[in-house]
Amino acid sequence: MYFPDLTPYEYGQTEPQPNVLNVGWLSAAQAFPVGIPDEQLVRAVERLIASPVNLTRGWHFCEFCPKPAKTVSPGRIRMLDPAARTLGNGEIRVASAAGIIYVAPLLVLHYVVAHGYLPPQEFIDAVIEWSAT
Ligand SMILES: [Zn+2]
Repeated sequence: MYFPDLTPYEYGQTEPQPNVLNVGWLSAAQAFPVGIPDEQLVRAVERLIASPVNLTRGWHFCEFCPKPAKTVSPGRIRMLDPAARTLGNGEIRVASAAGIIYVAPLLVLHYVVAHGYLPPQEFIDAVIEWSAT
C-alpha cells in the first residue's frame, strides 16, 4: 500500500480528511527521502508502535528487505519466517499541536531504522512533541 507523504489519509471506508495525513506508506516502486535516524524520533516511535491502532487481518512485509524464508512448523505447516519488525498489520497515529493527525504504518520504525527513511519534519516534530507529554 503506497501513499505519498502528507497526502490526505484514506483507507477502507473512511472519507479523506484534510487534517489526517499519510506518513511512511512506502513502496519499492517509489523513491523516498533518506537521512540519519533521529534517536529521539526512534525512541518515540518505538513507544507509539507498542499501542497500534486499526489492526488488519493481513500482514504487510517490508518491500525493501529480501523475501522472508519459508520454514516448516512442528505441525508441518509451511510458514514465512520474516525477520523481526519487517512486517506490520496496523498503524500508529500522532496529533500535532496544530491539530494535524499523522497516520503511519507500523513498519515506519523499521523503514527509519533499517532503510534510513526520513519522514517529513512536521511528523518528526509532532512525534517528539507527543513523546514529551
Ligand atoms: Zn526492510
